Amino acid sequence: MSSRFLRKDLNSFSPYSVTYYPDFIKLDANESPFELPDEVKEEIKSQFSKLSLRIYPDPSVLELRKSIASFLDIEGLTEENIAVGNGSDELLQYIFIAFPDREDTVLYPNLSFEMFPVLSQIAGVKDISLEVNDSLELETQSVIDAFYQYKPRLFLICRPNNPTGWAISREELLKIVEEAKRNDILVVIDEAYSEFMKESLSYLIKEYDNIIILRTFSKAFSLAGLRLGYAISNREIINDLMAVKLPYNVDIFSQMVGRIVLKYKDMILPRVEEIIKERDRLYESLSRLSGVRVFPSNANFLFFYCEDESLMDRLLSYKIKIRRFEPRHPLLKNAYRITVGRREENDRFISAMEEILT
Ligand code: PMP
Repeated sequence: MSSRFLRKDLNSFSPYSVTYYPDFIKLDANESPFELPDEVKEEIKSQFSKLSLRIYPDPSVLELRKSIASFLDIEGLTEENIAVGNGSDELLQYIFIAFPDREDTVLYPNLSFEMFPVLSQIAGVKDISLEVNDSLELETQSVIDAFYQYKPRLFLICRPNNPTGWAISREELLKIVEEAKRNDILVVIDEAYSEFMKESLSYLIKEYDNIIILRTFSKAFSLAGLRLGYAISNREIINDLMAVKLPYNVDIFSQMVGRIVLKYKDMILPRVEEIIKERDRLYESLSRLSGVRVFPSNANFLFFYCEDESLMDRLLSYKIKIRRFEPRHPLLKNAYRITVGRREENDRFISAMEEILT
């Protein structure tokens, strides 16, 4: 129950809710199945002992922004093109604070990141979600039509998309970005899972002044527990984000760990290959199960339908936690998302599914 002081427009607000199940095989939140390598943890430990926790962290996060800029390795891109957040979800919130006016409309696809409607409501802006087709894909023309119909200030898209795993092609996205530019619409391309499709469009910020790319350390870099994400854009947009952020949004420990994991990127990032291999194996196994319809994915999770109403409870009895969606849209009826786990976790999931569905 909320208090009588809550803003009136938040009365019917439904927050992002997560249930925490300790000791379960946790395949519900798209985290990495791998801990950081021991060598990296050792370096974190040794550098931690030298940290001064007494003083505030660098509010400009300068050293980490420089490290991210050199990691991205895009000609002409510097730390001035990077803003860092306490998770990329914090940066998303800053985007909602900085850019749309109260009377503005924000546009995003249906069946996309569930924080989009939540952040729209908190920011008090009008939001429109665009229908995806039966293949769970967003059609470019529907976006362009919506630009003219709703005249949004902001269009958000995940590439690849959470929760469906679909990724808009570069060509289609460019058509949207061009049209957005003509209509002065800011496009946010959320690349939280781009490592799993091995393609980032970060370099587009050099060609277009109306895009923000969002990336995170939570997935491919195995750091969901740390809370570290970043935005890539032109200097003016980055300045706007830096202006609205809280002064010390990225703590001293996260700034340090971010730099260390980038230094060890060649040890950490190749593990993406293993996740991709497991994803494809999991896809094959799920495709073979009767009563299951699974979709191809470019990310570290798979989206599927299963008509067995008891699936979630049955999986919980096997101590396996996956994500079930509230049927707030017909395309989310009987819909589930499973994060790719370690090989043995995926095996446990598949054999549980076989037992449940036969
Ligand atoms: N964008 C998408 C599409 C996500 O799925 C997530 C994590 N669930 C985030 C952003 C936020 O990631 P983080 O705050 O951990 O960087």
